[in-house]
Amino acid sequence: MRRVSAPSRPRPAVLSTLIYRSRASEQLTAADLSRIVKAARARNEGRWVTGILLFDGEYFLQMLEGPDEAVQALYERIAADARHVQVVRLLQDYAPLRRFPECGMRMVDIREHPEGLMDASLAGGLLRGADPLADDRPFKLMQAFVAGGWRGQAAEVSLPAHWRLGTRPSPFLQAADAGPAIASACRFALQPVINTRLGRVSSLEALIRTPEGGSPQEVLAGRAPDELHRFDLASKTHALDLASRVGLGSCKLAINLLPMALVSVPDAVDRLVADIDRRGLRPHQVVVEITENEAISHFHAFSEALKRLRAAGISIAIDDFGAGFAGLSLLSKFQPDKLKIDRQIVSGIHRDGPRQAIVRAIVDCCRSLGIAVVAEGVEVIEEWCWLQAAGIDLFQGFLFAPPRLDGVPDIQWPLSTRTGPETSTGVLRWPDAAATVPA
Ligand code: C2E
Ligand code: MN
Ligand code: MN
Repeated sequence: MRRVSAPSRPRPAVLSTLIYRSRASEQLTAADLSRIVKAARARNEGRWVTGILLFDGEYFLQMLEGPDEAVQALYERIAADARHVQVVRLLQDYAPLRRFPECGMRMVDIREHPEGLMDASLAGGLLRGADPLADDRPFKLMQAFVAGGWRGQAAEVSLPAHWRLGTRPSPFLQAADAGPAIASACRFALQPVINTRLGRVSSLEALIRTPEGGSPQEVLAGRAPDELHRFDLASKTHALDLASRVGLGSCKLAINLLPMALVSVPDAVDRLVADIDRRGLRPHQVVVEITENEAISHFHAFSEALKRLRAAGISIAIDDFGAGFAGLSLLSKFQPDKLKIDRQIVSGIHRDGPRQAIVRAIVDCCRSLGIAVVAEGVEVIEEWCWLQAAGIDLFQGFLFAPPRLDGVPDIQWPLSTRTGPETSTGVLRWPDAAATVPA
């Protein structure tokens, strides 16, 4: 093993540690591995990067340590390397000193260490100066890698190449055909939430727009709180109107409301129910989406409004879960029918270990509580592949359909490109799924 002459190196201003896990794209022989490690060593030593590479025959766990920029740049290159897939960043942190100072890259085939990583020869070279060993996050991650508890779900994540996107006939009517246009103060765009396991549209979310099609901020900004709440509630009449014109079938309409609109407007729930009735819809076809901020600061009044919504048969979703406000405090105080995980968490989830751990915990928690989980803001197929393997069935995002002003957009459904009756993920193939489109 070649040694790097440590004294000649300047100490980097910030010493960065990065750990990722990945899956070999093909079977690797011992010769392949030694070639990979040799090349990594040569590349790393010139950049003062050191580290360790664990391999279990299929998956890698690599730790890189060195100057921050060098580690970042190297990781970007590594992540783009076609020889491995499903590259997930598990840890990025800063450290006072190197754990693997002696070598550009040390390779450990963990199949040769059945005793695990406490094996003296390995542990002896580990974590110089870290105290105590067991409290070290990188070391714990290595142990978790060896223990393999993560393997089951990692194996479920299907490859993007096994999927293509395709449309199929829409069950909805075109709103323009079905009724007169629009109110003056606002319009609505509809965006589908789809169940990709069952191949059906679960709900349509109504998103408010200006008469010119501008954003919710443009519609809602600049209004005094009282007027804002009244306007928000009253605007829903147009969302309900649009929903009845496109024909909901068995899917639901999701509307966004500031929680205080339900509290500060007298008889808010009764008005909403009357509005629903006037459009020929039923309360159980409507979901009210709320975010945490206002709800939690006026929780007592808000929970009274929730009671009335529930009693009327309207269901409730927590929106933007995991963004900004904690989310957990609302979830601990009342349990909604549905929880929508915010795009901030969903975006890039297939590459991000901490977010994956959070989403797994959310899914687990919601399963225990009987709450449906929606992933919002899905933009790339890799995100969907991961979320699906984590047990999520409901999705919303530009990948499948952007919001469409005054109507329902065409939906791009993920369709299996594999032949054979069923994929390992249990996702229905198109011909089966088509049978369950709402009438
Ligand atoms: P939201 O309820 O979380 O709605 C989803 C937002 O994410 C929408 O933005 C939608 O266009 C956007 N979106 C959906 N899929 C993707 C994606 O894949 N990538 C990205 N980058 N964005 C995606 P929009 O329509 O601008 O609405 C923003 C927010 O305004 C909504 O977030 C909601 O909180 C609020 N809002 C919308 N309509 C109303 C309303 O009638 N009343 C109230 N109080 N708030 C509303
Ligand atoms: Mn929403
Ligand atoms: Mn949201």
